[in-house]
Amino acid sequence: MRVLILGGTAEARALAELLTADGIDVMSSLAGRVADPRLPVGEVRIGGFGGVDGLCAAVRDYTAVVDATHPFAKHISANAVAACAEADTPLVRLERPGWAERSQDSWHWVDTHEEAGAAAARLGARPFLTVGRQEMHRFVPDLGDHAVLARVVQAPESPLPAAWRLLTSRGPYELAGELALMREHAADVLITKDSGGEHTWPKMAAAATLGVPVVVVRRPARAPGVPTVHTVAEAAAWVRQTV
Ligand code: NAP
Repeated sequence: MRVLILGGTAEARALAELLTADGIDVMSSLAGRVADPRLPVGEVRIGGFGGVDGLCAAVRDYTAVVDATHPFAKHISANAVAACAEADTPLVRLERPGWAERSQDSWHWVDTHEEAGAAAARLGARPFLTVGRQEMHRFVPDLGDHAVLARVVQAPESPLPAAWRLLTSRGPYELAGELALMREHAADVLITKDSGGEHTWPKMAAAATLGVPVVVVRRPARAPGVPTVHTVAEAAAWVRQTV
């Protein structure tokens, strides 16, 4: 009885800890995007599986799979759906709730990062960009000349526009620090994805306090029909009744 957790999130780490404490044999999988990832307890493998076929071969060794990847990691989630269907391995999606229910009048929802760049260019001159390293290049056409403060966990490989300032740091963040950072940069628009959860919420609270508009990229669509839970406890309960 072994469980594969597709991870890279705080929820995946918390689930690995909970299941391991229950005596369940867990393997956590990370993509290997960052050089020094926060590691979950228990066994860990790092690196891609080689698409659906590779993942299908891998999941045959497990009793169940929990897709606890980030809400914007759409390829691995789609691969998990296809691979688990093919291998007949039970799959559950653990996805933290988004921020839509907390939306405010000062939030501007868009479907793509390109739309976010265009919206931010209309709204301000000193954006605070918090969408992650992989998506930053998509903001260069609209914001290349803006005084962008770009915060990422790990610096991107390709150079950024000269007008941009890069800040490397890893959450979770607190309101006081977010307020100080946004004041210090004189940020006049915040750009984020709908990552959801509490770890990066303080920037949203800081924007509200400072009267700064927020551009929010909607989550990508998910494959229908996959059982989905929203908390680590629910995912652990699903595992216990499945394995
Ligand atoms: P993605 O576009 O969905 O995945 C691209 C490829 O990376 C997948 O096809 C797979 O390669 C490999 N991969 C992704 N997650 C993996 C995992 N947990 N274990 C093994 N291989 C994995 O994903 P992404 O947006 O690049 O995100 C990569 C990882 O970072 C995810 O695990 C995610 O949870 C984490 N993360 C992402 C974001 C974000 O904003 N996208 C934010 C925070 C954390 P193969 O096809 O070769 O299997």
